[in-house]
Amino acid sequence: MATLFERVFKGSDEMLAEAEKALAGFNDSDPVSYPDTAYYLGCLYAFTGSKNQTVGELRKSMEWIRSQMTREKRTQDIFTSGIATACAAEVIEVCKYINNPQPYEGTLFLGNMSDADVRELGVPLVTGDIPGFVLFIGSAPSDEKAAELIRSYQRKSIYVFLVGGIVEQADRAGIALGHKNRVFPVGPTITAAAHVVSVAVRVALIFGNVTPGDYEKVREYTFDRVNAVVNAFEPVDDLTVACGAGAISLGFPVVTNDDNDMWRVPKSLIVQPDIDKFADTSVEARGIKLIMSAVDIPVAFATAFEGEIIRKGDMYLEADGSRKDCFELVRTADFDQIEDGRITVIGPEVDDIPEGTKINLGTVVEVCGKKMQPDFEPVFERKFHQWLNCIEGCMHTGQRDMIRLRLSKNCVASGFKLKHLGDVLYNQIKSDYGSVVDKCQVTIYTEPEKVTELRKTANEFYDKRDARLESLSDESAEQFYACIMCQSFSPSHVCIVTPERLGLCGAVSWLDAKATYELNENGPCRIVGKGGLIDERVGKWQDVNDIVRQLSNGALENVSLYSIMEDPMTSCGCFECICGIEPFSNGVVIVNRECVEMTPLGMTFSEMASMTGGGVQTPGFMGHGKHFIASKKFMAADGGIARIVWMPKALKDTVGEKLNKTAKELYGIDNFVEMIGDETVTDDPSVLLEWLGEKGHPVLELEPLM
Ligand code: SF4
Ligand code: ZN
Repeated sequence: MATLFERVFKGSDEMLAEAEKALAGFNDSDPVSYPDTAYYLGCLYAFTGSKNQTVGELRKSMEWIRSQMTREKRTQDIFTSGIATACAAEVIEVCKYINNPQPYEGTLFLGNMSDADVRELGVPLVTGDIPGFVLFIGSAPSDEKAAELIRSYQRKSIYVFLVGGIVEQADRAGIALGHKNRVFPVGPTITAAAHVVSVAVRVALIFGNVTPGDYEKVREYTFDRVNAVVNAFEPVDDLTVACGAGAISLGFPVVTNDDNDMWRVPKSLIVQPDIDKFADTSVEARGIKLIMSAVDIPVAFATAFEGEIIRKGDMYLEADGSRKDCFELVRTADFDQIEDGRITVIGPEVDDIPEGTKINLGTVVEVCGKKMQPDFEPVFERKFHQWLNCIEGCMHTGQRDMIRLRLSKNCVASGFKLKHLGDVLYNQIKSDYGSVVDKCQVTIYTEPEKVTELRKTANEFYDKRDARLESLSDESAEQFYACIMCQSFSPSHVCIVTPERLGLCGAVSWLDAKATYELNENGPCRIVGKGGLIDERVGKWQDVNDIVRQLSNGALENVSLYSIMEDPMTSCGCFECICGIEPFSNGVVIVNRECVEMTPLGMTFSEMASMTGGGVQTPGFMGHGKHFIASKKFMAADGGIARIVWMPKALKDTVGEKLNKTAKELYGIDNFVEMIGDETVTDDPSVLLEWLGEKGHPVLELEPLM
């Protein structure tokens, strides 16, 4: 029987030969690329730094691939061969894209992931909402087993990639596939595994600021920070064995049920004959820390269900704040008013509600604790959305009195009641905020008159909070906060969060940072003083610089809070938006992550993002949160919001009202948003400039930026 070494080398040779065959029919000048990525062929770019934009360049890269498959120093060579095998697989895959930008169209398979998808995956990896990912290769013993296995990972909130027969098995067994469901059907054969390796190495380039071509740094990054594991079903062929060596070399253990005495490698190549134990074995082998706390409800509860959509036809009941009175409220109460753990439903429960009903729904969570502060209430309340969405069969959008919540027929048939919403909220508040919440009780109102009455009270609370938020300013705040949550992926990145500038992910406001700090002084948020004002205009303080230097381990010396030209804040990669200078108009273009259109900079979001991430300062480009756009501090030192000349229409809709208000206050301009171009106006900078002139855009009066 062949040894493990022999099989790796055989597999490498086979993949190399296949790649040569795939290239044979093309001319050197034929262009090659994957759609929607600024990282070329991700694996080859990461490992060699070469961009491979033509078949001719690919042929050169084939020489490098071959050079990695030598057999002199056996132990080392199987690993370099393994990575080279993945690169050869990437060559085979990209050949499918020559002459056909969407080779997988009309199939279940998604092929190469776009940069936007990698980023969307990167953010929850950073925050720990996704503790890791698994790649399945081959076919499970049956459709049911395939579905069971996938669900076992979903329940652990682990992101699932599928390659081979398991894709069709999952589809037949009714598993919802796609990015939203965190199950990614990559491709039909082992060569598609290259797309998964490409994701892992692009995370290193995007979030870790690893230089393309720094082979060892890429490996080090995936080894330390990307929690991935491979599950390969028997029979495992030589090609898969060779790719597996590559996976192990990147730090990803391989678990298989293909029993073979020849190839056990401690901690890295593990034989687990019982596939029901794949998930547990994998989690243990990679040391993945699971995060979701267990809550006792009749359906599953995991972040894998966050993106689940419940359509009208699948819906049992709906609470829709735009049609019926609904609200959600967290409020601080006195100690003796709360019975810890008490969940009450006032009004009809699911059993008394006929299928297809639109209900009124008011949710009141009362908390108390010696360290509880009213400032934390909105922080908890905004988490409802995420928590309730993790319930399998429950969809939630919005907040305050503009919510929508749907329960699916399956969910209700499993025995889920409205009371269980309360269980989830109670459980999550106690587990996430237990250090400030001593007691918590939840009351769910479905009685229509009661909800209508309480909605009014809730609105009084919201108004009071808004007034408090509006009164907060950078000037009046005693301190700022630094957030280093993203350092697990972007080691030198530090966000400075102020009342008027939220974190670039959009998820951490000054109040959030304050709550995070007070919940755990050694957690990701730290207090930053405002001592040693250096320059008020650009927003520089000695205290801020000191903490940035300390938290970035010396990588950053100076940061200004209000300028994108002079020492701008760094970006980790999970920014909601990027702004970049538009030289024709002397303004800036802002583009949000969801936007796929071309901008007047001649770059898409992805292309701009590739210049902005990785925790380095890039004057002229800056990542930021959506709600920073309407802030008086947005680029305040560089001319402020008057610099904004172009934004996607959807982004204008999101921030328009507040932006108009700020423009009115700062410059006395009405309807400022109508002076900002968008994709329906043009993506041509000279046309835009003319259009701005017609609109009388204030940027035309400003000094040049450069
Ligand atoms: Fe990451 Fe900054 Fe958001 Fe913190 S505030 S989670 S560091 S992007
Ligand atoms: Zn980040």
